[in-house]
Amino acid sequence: MLSSKKKYIVNSNSGIKAQVRLSSCLPVLLRRPLPPKQIQFADQKQEFNKRPTKIGRRSLSRSISQSSTDSYSSAASYTDSSDDETSPRDKQQKNSKGSSDFCVKNIKQAEFGRREIEIAEQEMPALMALRKRAQGEKPLAGAKIVGCTHITAQTAVLMETLGALGAQCRWAACNIYSTLNEVAAALAESGFPVFAWKGESEDDFWWCIDRCVNVEGWQPNMILDDGGDLTHWIYKKYPNMFKKIKGIVEESVTGVHRLYQLSKAGKLCVPAMNVNDSVTKQKFDNLYCCRESILDGLKRTTDMMFGGKQVVVCGYGEVGKGCCAALKAMGSIVYVTEIDPICALQACMDGFRLVKLNEVIRQVDIVITCTGNKNVVTREHLDRMKNSCIVCNMGHSNTEIDVASLRTPELTWERVRSQVDHVIWPDGKRIVLLAEGRLLNLSCSTVPTFVLSITATTQALALIELYNAPEGRYKQDVYLLPKKMDEYVASLHLPTFDAHLTELTDEQAKYLGLNKNGPFKPNYYRY
Ligand code: NAD
Repeated sequence: MLSSKKKYIVNSNSGIKAQVRLSSCLPVLLRRPLPPKQIQFADQKQEFNKRPTKIGRRSLSRSISQSSTDSYSSAASYTDSSDDETSPRDKQQKNSKGSSDFCVKNIKQAEFGRREIEIAEQEMPALMALRKRAQGEKPLAGAKIVGCTHITAQTAVLMETLGALGAQCRWAACNIYSTLNEVAAALAESGFPVFAWKGESEDDFWWCIDRCVNVEGWQPNMILDDGGDLTHWIYKKYPNMFKKIKGIVEESVTGVHRLYQLSKAGKLCVPAMNVNDSVTKQKFDNLYCCRESILDGLKRTTDMMFGGKQVVVCGYGEVGKGCCAALKAMGSIVYVTEIDPICALQACMDGFRLVKLNEVIRQVDIVITCTGNKNVVTREHLDRMKNSCIVCNMGHSNTEIDVASLRTPELTWERVRSQVDHVIWPDGKRIVLLAEGRLLNLSCSTVPTFVLSITATTQALALIELYNAPEGRYKQDVYLLPKKMDEYVASLHLPTFDAHLTELTDEQAKYLGLNKNGPFKPNYYRY
């Protein structure tokens, strides 16, 4: 049943060449999408993501989980329980079935969380289709998945899909701030051992991961990680577990980087799938997610009008392209800075003025960094900005804007809203700093569920593939998903748009040298 059907050569980012074959269960899944389905777009009214006000057990050494913030979650919460000071670790909670194998903020919020999950389901058509289509076969029967991701309504849809496909799951959060408490409660109520709450301390963070892994009578055989912390923990504390683990699926840039390091050092002891570099993650998450969420983040924090405003976007990669497109569509005057002549030329031909930051810094109303680099906006730039200039970052880390340089005695900081600081110069000039230079959309806005659906579907397929692969098919190496799976993920999302895909005729397929069912592009194709 699990004989290999196809073989693909995949080149990873790090130059590692890996061969990927599709398990026989996948061709069953790789059928044409279901007929178009009516999707209801929910009005997602959400509060700002509040930083926890109670320090509790939080260690200041870890202001945010070191795990990636490259995969995004809707960070807003509907049921703010910051008034409840008791640590979830000190609470005795049971779900309605009497199980206490979980640790969440407040199990009583489960009903709220369930509604959130139902809303997310509306915008995650591929996972719902996967549930329907593969449920009969249960391709994850016997899988024991330990997961460490953002715990949001979208992740809940993924977890419940994995459950429907036959897997048992235990889950912790990959980020100390991004857990939606009510969603964690809903999952715990429906029997998922979830160990996560918003505002965990450093110690809580590792404790939660440990509670997922260190269980009597249950040992994971698959890992789904976002940032590599869970993988790291198992390597450090329970290396013997890898004897039973069939594979790791990793979502983030950071985690993938760690896996390649392990692989290069010859220390990777199971096969791993790099989901981060699949086309359906990079070309959708980075571009469309930012195109949709940049305006939301700016609007929620500043209530600003975009039309006619002068904006400089630093970096014209996927994220920069998304930000520029959104702002241009709103009538902003957009400047771009770049170091790479290719991206610079793209910016020019897309109609943006390519400048050096110094040339426009005095006149712009908004500065947005999206480079993944450090010190792109320096204290000198900040000194020269005009009054009320808004400064924010859409890149992975908070190194792009030199925020530390603003913590000097002559400057006054005023917290005017959650995630909004006014930094005031002695002459009265103020700049508006958003999310202290951290990722604006992760910190201050919601991100589109539909985009997360694409990434989550890719994760689910990667798990199915690794779990079902016969022994020896995958070595102890890092693999990219086969192109055909990327295409399948995309095709599952097309019915939402009532899109009609053209099929190759036999003659055309022969002419192009393609299989009529794909893959349609070589692996080096850039999209
Ligand atoms: P990318 O590599 O495609 O683009 C970054 C661009 O910045 C490159 O073109 C590079 O040449 C340019 N650059 C580097 N240093 C520069 C400098 N000093 N001045 C001007 N330009 C410079 O990467 P990407 O996919 O666009 O991601 C950018 C960052 O955003 C990364 O840190 C990534 O992890 C993060 N990211 C954020 C989100 C989000 O939702 N906010 C989503 C995905 C990725």
